[in-house]
Parts: sequence; structure tokens; C-alpha cells
Amino acid sequence: MKLDTSPIAAIATAPGRGGIGVVRASGKSLAPLLAALFPDVALSPRRATYIPFRQADGAVIDQGIALYFKGPNSYTGEDVLELQGHGGPIVLQMLLARVLEAGAEAGLRLAEPGEFTRRAYLNDKLDLAQAEAVADLIDASTEAAAKSATQSLSGAFSKTINTLVEQTTGLRMLVEATLDFPEEEIDFLEKSDARGQLAVIVASLERVFQQAAQGALLREGLNVVLVGQPNVGKSSLLNALAGADVAIVTPIAGTTRDKVSETIQIEGIPLNIIDTAGIRTIDDAVDVVERIGIERTWGEVARADVILHLLDADQGPTRADDGIVAAFPAGVPVLRVWNKIDLSGHKPSVDPAEEATNIYLSAHEHVGMDLLRAELLRIAGWQQTGESLFLARERHLIALRSAQKHLALAGEHAAQNDQSLDLFAEELRLAQAQLSSITGQFSSDDLLGVIFSRFCIGK
Ligand code: GDP
Ligand code: ZN
Repeated sequence: MKLDTSPIAAIATAPGRGGIGVVRASGKSLAPLLAALFPDVALSPRRATYIPFRQADGAVIDQGIALYFKGPNSYTGEDVLELQGHGGPIVLQMLLARVLEAGAEAGLRLAEPGEFTRRAYLNDKLDLAQAEAVADLIDASTEAAAKSATQSLSGAFSKTINTLVEQTTGLRMLVEATLDFPEEEIDFLEKSDARGQLAVIVASLERVFQQAAQGALLREGLNVVLVGQPNVGKSSLLNALAGADVAIVTPIAGTTRDKVSETIQIEGIPLNIIDTAGIRTIDDAVDVVERIGIERTWGEVARADVILHLLDADQGPTRADDGIVAAFPAGVPVLRVWNKIDLSGHKPSVDPAEEATNIYLSAHEHVGMDLLRAELLRIAGWQQTGESLFLARERHLIALRSAQKHLALAGEHAAQNDQSLDLFAEELRLAQAQLSSITGQFSSDDLLGVIFSRFCIGK
């Protein structure tokens, strides 16, 4: 992404047709653009103005609402102009072209992806975690995910992180002040209850990690691959899980020619389910085309978070199933789902075995489906804590884990008593840097400021 700060413009609404469509521009000063677009009218900030959008020669492109936000009171913190026109691809392209033309002299250019939000971050309208939440809210695939993204966007996650940073800074401040006065080092750990303070930080960090890890599930979901011989009921199971007819179900073996993928949700966790064509091992391939298809399917299996291996409970496993099981990638959990228990007479149940958990159900009769859902949630690591969740990203989880590691090391130094106070302080600094990287507000200089503003050096 370019770092230049020239004014930018883009179509802000999704491609395709809609009731309205928005062209948005942002820049340190949009006065030249406004003057070129609307020579006869001075738009007042934060006021909707119904106005014709004209070509340079005066021809009307569209008639709509112009909204002008004077910086810093805008999304990006710069001047922002929004033109709301009719939501057709051609009219919006024309409008955008006109805006770019009108702003050309002022250096207006097409915005890069995410550049409006990036400017909001650079202008302190949002911190890094909030900026990420904007994208996550737009990308949310379930209501629960959207709710958590809104939490993060509103700053709840950042606030929690900032509290941890403050606590860590506070403790470090104590330690560093003591380092300057060696004679006080002796009883420092006891007097200041540094260990107690550290324990409090460690405990709240663990809680935040759990909230973030659960939230990450809402964001990432689970990749589920359905494998099994033709006619065991893969499509029926997908339908039963989805609650709608998304896959074709017929009694003719081998109907699912290509993979059918469907995202469903269980308790708000998106499950991306891929129904593979009756999978076979590569040795069984008849020709090159089939070989490629089989390879692609095994590629999906290798990337899965969980494999649903479907079998016919009435007919029992086939020899082909043995071959498939032997080829399953190591480390991917397998649920062995015995379908059609209405025919076999099994009871709906879950039977954990060493190599794979067995589940007995009937997709067609919708019996035992709740057992399967519960197993999928268990594998996902979902816990209903009732606590609000933060729609965290992998980056956040890594930073939180790393901060935990440094706090643990700090604890070890604290346990060795006064010899290693400087190491204790150093680990606190590293933990703090990790936490601050989440909101993007790390600056190593703030610590000195905190120390000298809050500590009387003559003490
Ligand atoms: P796929 O080839 O593995 O996708 O299998 P389908 O979902 O297309 O199902 C094959 C046949 O088995 C269809 O006629 C389904 O109605 C039937 N079937 C699927 N699940 C069940 C079940 O639980 N009980 C019974 N009796 N039939 C089922
Ligand atoms: Zn099928």
C-alpha cells in the first residue's frame, strides 16, 4: 500500500445493483474537489444536500445526496465527501470517474483496499485492533461473529488490552524505580507485593486469551470435510446439518460429481462443510482426469480441521473404506459417522474410540444429529462461557501467548529473589510490547514519562 497522503476516492458500496451506491473521497483538504464538483453550492459539513452530480460540461450524471464531513470530524480524520447516487454499476463508475477528474489537479487518486480505514488508524480515529474489527465485521459470516466484531470495533477489546498494558507498566515502573536505588532492592519483592501484582496480571491475561481464542473461532470457523462411499448419505447429512436442501440427494450412487461446499453455523460458529465426491484412493484411479479429481479431494482432506467419515450402519464398512482410513492424514481428528441407524436398528449414540469417535445417527430421520453437532463443537474447542467474546485474529492470539510467556519468565525471575530484578523488569517490558502491538500503540518512550510523572525522585 502506498504511503502517500494524496486525496483518495473509491466506490464504497458493494459491486452490483442496489437502491443506492456511494462514492467516497478523503483528503487533508477536499476544498478544491468540492469547488470543482459543486461550483454553485457551498456544502455545509454534516448536512445532507440533495443535488445534481454533473459532468464538467454540465450534463447531469445522477441526482443524489452529497454529504461532507470536515476533518478531523470524519471517519478518516480528514475531509470526507460522500456522494450517494443510484446503485447501478455504470452510474457509479461514471460518478467515480467524474470525482477523479474533478480532483485530478489536487492529486486525487483511486484508493487502495482498506486505505480509508488505514487513514482512520493513522489519524488516531481507530486503533489497530479496531481497524481490524472493521474488516471482520464486514466479513462476519454469522450473527455471533458480527456481534463480537462490533464489540472489538467499539473498543472493548482494546480497552481490556490497554488495562493489561497499564498494569504491566505500573509494575515495571515499580521495579525500575527500585533498580535506581539499590539499597531498596533488598525487600522490594515483599514490600511491593510484586509477585501478587504479577499473579493478578497473569490471571486476567489468561481470561482475555480465552475470550479472544473463543472469538477467533467465530471468525475462523471450522473446515469440515465429508468423506464416504457413494450412497452412504453424505448429501443427506449435509442437508440435515444445514437445515435446507443445499446438496442434491438421489438414490443413484455417485450423484455428487464435484464438491459441494456450504457454510452452516452451530451456535454461531461457522462450519465450512465440503461434501466430496465418493472419495477413492489414488491407486484406484482409472484415468488422468479422475486422478486429478482424487488428488484435489485429498488436498481438501489434508486441510480439514475435522474429517467426517460417513459409513452405512446397515451395510457396515466396505473394503474401500479401509483404504480411505489408511490414507487419512495424521493429526486431523476423525468422526466416524454411522448413518442410516433407522435401517440398522442401532441407538443414536456417541462411542469414543482410540482412533476415531463413532457416532450413530440417521441423517434422513434427523435422529442423533444433536450428538454430531455437540461433537463438532467439542472438536472446535467451543466453550459456552457466557462471557462476551472478542473477535480476535491469529495475530492477537500470538501476541497474547507471547505476553503470557514473558510474564511466566518474569515470575521465574521474581521467584529467584532480588538477584534478577533487572531481568524481571526486562520480561515485563517484553510482555508489554507484545500487548501493545495488538492495539498498535507501543512506544518505548512512554515508560520514562510514566515513571517521572508519577514518581517523586526525592523519595
Ligand atoms: P451420498 O451419495 O453419500 O451423498 O448419499 P445421499 O445423501 O445422496 O443418500 C443416498 C440415499 O440414501 C438416498 O436415497 C437417501 O435418501 C438415503 N439415506 C440417506 N440417509 C439415510 C438415513 O438416515 N436412513 C435411510 N433409511 N436412508 C437414508
Ligand atoms: Zn451426495
